[in-house]
Amino acid sequence: MSASVQKVLIIGGGFSGMSAAIQLRKQGIETHLLEIDPDWRADGAGISVGGATLRALETLGVLEEFLEQGSVQEALEVHAPTGQLLQTIPNPPVAGANVPGGGAIMRPVLARILSKKVVNAGAKVRLGYTYSTIEQDDEGVTVTFEDGSSDRFDLVIGADGLYSKTREWLLPDAPKPRYSGQGVWRAVLPRPPEAGNTMMWVGPKLKTGINPMSKDQVYLFLTEDKQIKERVPDEKLVATLKDLLSTFPAPVVQALREQLDETSQVQLRPLEGLLVPLPWFRGRVVLIGDTVHATTPHLASGACIGIEDAIVLAEELASRSTLDEALDAFQHRRWERCRMVVENSGRLGQIEIEGGDKEEHTNIMRESMQALAQPI
Ligand SMILES: Cc1cc2nc3c(=O)[nH]c(=O)nc-3n(C[C@H](O)[C@H](O)[C@H](O)COP(=O)(O)OP(=O)(O)OC[C@H]3O[C@@H](n4cnc5c(N)ncnc54)[C@H](O)[C@@H]3O)c2cc1C
Repeated sequence: MSASVQKVLIIGGGFSGMSAAIQLRKQGIETHLLEIDPDWRADGAGISVGGATLRALETLGVLEEFLEQGSVQEALEVHAPTGQLLQTIPNPPVAGANVPGGGAIMRPVLARILSKKVVNAGAKVRLGYTYSTIEQDDEGVTVTFEDGSSDRFDLVIGADGLYSKTREWLLPDAPKPRYSGQGVWRAVLPRPPEAGNTMMWVGPKLKTGINPMSKDQVYLFLTEDKQIKERVPDEKLVATLKDLLSTFPAPVVQALREQLDETSQVQLRPLEGLLVPLPWFRGRVVLIGDTVHATTPHLASGACIGIEDAIVLAEELASRSTLDEALDAFQHRRWERCRMVVENSGRLGQIEIEGGDKEEHTNIMRESMQALAQPI
């Protein structure tokens, strides 16, 4: 059985779109990928991954490269701002002994691993390029590109992210991205000898942490409550982050703070969420990844659920007899898991902003991790 899809266009070459290209090429489907960024960059510092993400990367066939170029951690250490260890939360493997339970990698490194796989798999990639219109009928989808040329596809996958133009067109009444009330600071720093595991320091209002991303680098993050989306001018980023870190007397944090200087790449990003109710497809156009479910990073699972969407979509296309059945089965298999990640991450952020119940925070973390460990 198969949904007789022979030619697919993927709009957006982020983690979700690239994963879809890899999985569709395994079935021999002619796969075209459009990426608006001419340099196919992955913005940002590091990305933390749980066991479920590593399981998904194994399915894509890139776990080996991740293990060579990234870093794995066996646990998360939670500390008081002074440095006292409060709790060690293990990252148990969820997919057998060969797939670790957690880790991190430089975002551009993971993007490079995936983009190489996409190209080697034979997907036709066009960079710095996009479409202008999409029209569909019962037999196919006609896409007109920005240079006026057009082509016809059996299926179009919209993976163009949180501010998706494809979603705006396909589901004009869908909710808009919502600011969560938190911003996250990030910086890449040399790995201190103490950083075997992920380390976090939790203060009354701020939370900071480091996650090793390779043998010699860590990714530092700091979550700050901000009522409105605020932009800090580039020349003030380093000084402002240093001020915020000064509220954590822990020696490891202070040693890292000392290393921040004008050459450090510091970023501040607002945390936004989006959960689009079903349907995630109309006719022959389907949406995946952040386009329909963007989460704040409290469970470090945004990339995970986007990559899993791609895996499940490819599975359903291969096993159902019609496209409509495949897309419907895809969205119903994905809904509950994606809803759980977006809503639970949002609730964790809210508890942090309100200085709410720490036990509820711990319980949500534990239950979400148990749910994520389940098979997809
Ligand atoms: C601050 C922050 C920290 C995070 N940390 C983590 C973490 O530690 N772990 C984790 O798992 N997740 C994390 N996430 C979430 C994760 O980054 C996202 O869920 C994931 O990157 C989504 O991938 P995507 O491919 O669906 O969308 P995107 O990454 O947004 O990719 C969309 C792609 O589409 C392209 N595009 C856009 N419009 C067009 C167009 N019209 N035509 C062609 N191409 C187009 C874009 O250039 C982009 O390449 C974090 C998110 C944020 C904001």
